[in-house]
This record gives sequence, C-alpha cells and structure tokens, in this order.
Amino acid sequence: MKEKLISLVIPMYCEKDVARECYKRVKKVMTDNAIHHEIVFINDGSSDNTIDILEEIATEDQQVKVISFARNFGHQIAVTAGIAKAKGDAVVVIDADLQDPPEVIPDMIALWQQGYHVVYGQRKKRKGETWFKLATAKFFYRFLKQMTEVEMPLDTGDFRLMDRKVVDVFNDMPEKNRFIRGMVSWVGFKQTALLYEREERFAGETKYPLKKMLKLASDGILSFSFKPVKWIEGTGVVLLVVGFLMMLFSLVTWINGTVTDVPGWLWVVVLLSGVHLLALGIVGEYIVRIYDESRGRPLYTVEKEINMESDNR
Ligand code: UDP
Ligand code: MG
Repeated sequence: MKEKLISLVIPMYCEKDVARECYKRVKKVMTDNAIHHEIVFINDGSSDNTIDILEEIATEDQQVKVISFARNFGHQIAVTAGIAKAKGDAVVVIDADLQDPPEVIPDMIALWQQGYHVVYGQRKKRKGETWFKLATAKFFYRFLKQMTEVEMPLDTGDFRLMDRKVVDVFNDMPEKNRFIRGMVSWVGFKQTALLYEREERFAGETKYPLKKMLKLASDGILSFSFKPVKWIEGTGVVLLVVGFLMMLFSLVTWINGTVTDVPGWLWVVVLLSGVHLLALGIVGEYIVRIYDESRGRPLYTVEKEINMESDNR
C-alpha cells in the first residue's frame, strides 16, 4: 500500500514569536512517529516578519509549503486556503500558537485509520484563558447547539483531522462567510471526538479580539440557523392573536356600555405590531430562501456508491 500523506494546515497572523517553535514541535511529532507529511503554513497578511521566518523554514525543509496572503483575511479564510492547497490523504488543521498540542495528532491519525472520516479535538480543559473568553465560549457553543439542525459538537474549535473525502466536499463549498467547524459537521460522514487539554498560548497575544469573535459567532449562527426569522414570525402571530382578542373585548364592552380599564388604542398597537412582525417574517422567509440558494452548498454528500459503475444492460 502506498504510504499515506498527512497534510498539516497552520494559519499564522503576526506569529513571529511562535512560528519557529511551532514548526519545531510539529516537525518533531511527525519525524518521531515516522509520519509521511507536508506542512502548509498560511501567512494571513501579518504586519510583522512572520513571512520571513516561514520563508527561511521553507528553504530548509522541502516538505514545508507557504501561502502568503496580500492582506489579513481572517483565520477561517486562511484555513480554507490551506485546506484547498493540501494534497494529503488526510488534512489536520491546527493553530500556530501551540494551544492545540501537536502531540495528539498521532492519536487522531490512529482513529482515522480505524475508519473515522473526521476526528475533532474536543477541549476538556482550557488553560490560560480569561474568564470572559471561557464564559462566552461556553455559552456560545451551547447556544449554537440549540439553534441549529446540524449536529455540532460542544467545545470544539478547528483543531481536527479530515479525510480526503471530507476535504473534497469542503473544497466544493463556495460560501464566503465561513464557519469551518459547522461546515465540517454539515458534511457528515463518520465523525468522532478526541479529548484534549487546551494549553496556554506559547507566546504573544490572542489574534482573536472581541470583534473577530463576534464575527465568528454571528457566522456560526446565521450560516447554520434560520431560527431568528422563525422567532420574528412566531412573535408576530402571537401579537396578532392577542391584539385580535383585545379588539373583540373592546368592541363588546363598547356595545354593551360597560366601562373597562383597557384603553382602546392598546389593541390597535398590539394588532398592528403583530401584522408588521408577521409581514417582516414572511419577507424574511424569502430572504432565507435566497440566502440558502446563494450559499451554493452541495445538495447532499455521498459516502459510498455500490455498483454504480457497472453496466446493467
Ligand atoms: N489567525 C489568523 N488570522 C487572523 C487571526 C488569527 O490566521 O486574522 C491565526 C492565528 O495566528 C492562530 C489561529 O489563527 O494560529 C488562532 O488564533 P488565536 O490563537 O489568536 O485565537 P485564540 O486561540 O485566542 O482563540
Ligand atoms: Mg490561540
């Protein structure tokens, strides 16, 4: 059997203090375990000298490939580019800052060899993060799970191994606002978790300020859930019914002359709010459908075909 190639995809944004150490640690794991590999670094428009370091490494090691962006496009796009260029039978995505320990990659590969198509790293502990990051991340993953129909594992980032089959489907997904962990869940196939402890950043600061975290969170929710539109519609229907009942009540009390505490304008407000929200929800439904079409996701993903190529005539 031909030796399997493992591609490592490592995005870097201003990681000058991390780049060398990252390469060393990852390379050591690969050589110690005799893994046939290539390493694809993506320089995501760093404003420091990350690219110079990567170029040096690439001249020393032919198994190192470098893609350098003309500006900062963000982590998810950087990872997408790396996956698109990777040639491996399996592709492993890992952060540059060594928060995801490369030492667990051989365990991921072992699970892949047992037949799993995706092995995602699931954090059982996160070290050296602020309480704010821990709390918001914990809330986000649970909230997202409630929101979506796609089965998405909790506490899972982009540290994962993907089989070539999954990578090929992923590369066919042209959507622009990418929430990679969700997209990989969407693809399906046999997926399993590998528990690990997330370490502290090796050096430097996080490259995910609040603004980028919010963008990622909104991509996760908006790309995988249409529930916000359903909520608008649902609220509209409830208000419409309540407003209608209030109107009846007002009419009856007006006709038989009883005095009530409910001012007449109230039902108008409630009823009209209901009409407006429902109208908005209906418009939303059209937009959701346009969005769904424009994302251009494949209709389905096929794991296996049997006798498809044989001639039945
Ligand atoms: N990163 C990137 N582009 C960006 C932001 C981050 O390529 O615009 C990379 C970064 O270099 C690192 C990974 O994405 O390899 C994760 O970023 P970071 O460790 O700063 O995020 P955190 O772990 O704090 O969530
Ligand atoms: Mg990090």
